[in-house]
Amino acid sequence: MVRYLSLVSTIAFLAACSPQGGAPAVETSSNEMTETHQADAQSAQLASPEEIAMAQAAPVLTGLSPFAPPHEAFTVIGNIHHVGGASVSAYLITTEEGHFLIDGILPQSPPMIIENIEALGFDVADVKYLLNSHAHIDHSGGLAGLQQASGATMVASAGDTPILESGRIEFGPTSTMPFPPVRVDEVIEDGGTLTLGDTTLTAVITPGHSPGCTSWKTETTASDGETYSVFFHCSTSLGGQTVVPESYPGMVNDYRSSFERIAYEDADIFLAFHASMFGMEDKYQALLADDALAFVDPEALGAFNAASQRQFEDALKQQEAALETSSQ
Ligand SMILES: [Zn+2]
Repeated sequence: MVRYLSLVSTIAFLAACSPQGGAPAVETSSNEMTETHQADAQSAQLASPEEIAMAQAAPVLTGLSPFAPPHEAFTVIGNIHHVGGASVSAYLITTEEGHFLIDGILPQSPPMIIENIEALGFDVADVKYLLNSHAHIDHSGGLAGLQQASGATMVASAGDTPILESGRIEFGPTSTMPFPPVRVDEVIEDGGTLTLGDTTLTAVITPGHSPGCTSWKTETTASDGETYSVFFHCSTSLGGQTVVPESYPGMVNDYRSSFERIAYEDADIFLAFHASMFGMEDKYQALLADDALAFVDPEALGAFNAASQRQFEDALKQQEAALETSSQ
């Protein structure tokens, strides 16, 4: 752990010495946004190719090692593919006009993700949009490496952009775990859309777990010819963060509005970024046993959201009680 942290401090130091970050320029679909964002990118401390390579070669932090194991790549349904690991997910959504890639997992994960993309017969160079669920190291740590490998346009929420571009979150259990900073090329708002070929992804900003936690939704056509709605759930778990006091101002309201927001969403397929949250392995085994619709479950998103909301309110009560006890 100490060894990795010292590497990370070196990375942070090197990044501080090179404000341009050495990152390659990318084309984006929106010139206006590129121009407005380039100004920000110049002040951000972006990771250079050398720093990214060092982060990929560094040992995984002890506390994060459960998130590192790889998984065989597979097609979830239609044009939606799982290219992540056994514990933490990354998704490739393919089209005739390039692909979307959601999440980078750990700083060490890009080689595994790229191998998975290739195993399915695709090319990381065809990824046009690089997206993120949220700016915690187990989901955003590999983004800089994937941006370097793909040249894709990185799109993120306003709430998480400062964390992605600094590679550092100020609160919660991952505040001691910096990751290679990634350049955000476009900021997307709630309801904002991105289109490649016949596929449109819509951002559903569901803050709380992080200030700009971003769920994504889309539709896909399966082998049966039917169209299915898909919801990529950012996360509404506490993840070891305190809500009493709030880890960031407005956190409790953010969680509650996200639970309300998600309750309005309907999805035939519920996917998340930790395998355990959506029962990935069981569904994957069913898929292998020839159930092409193994991931279709229109009840799953609503049930997960309701359970997550109960857990949140219980944790809030417990933390309030603990604070009262400690102040008596
Ligand atoms: Zn998280």
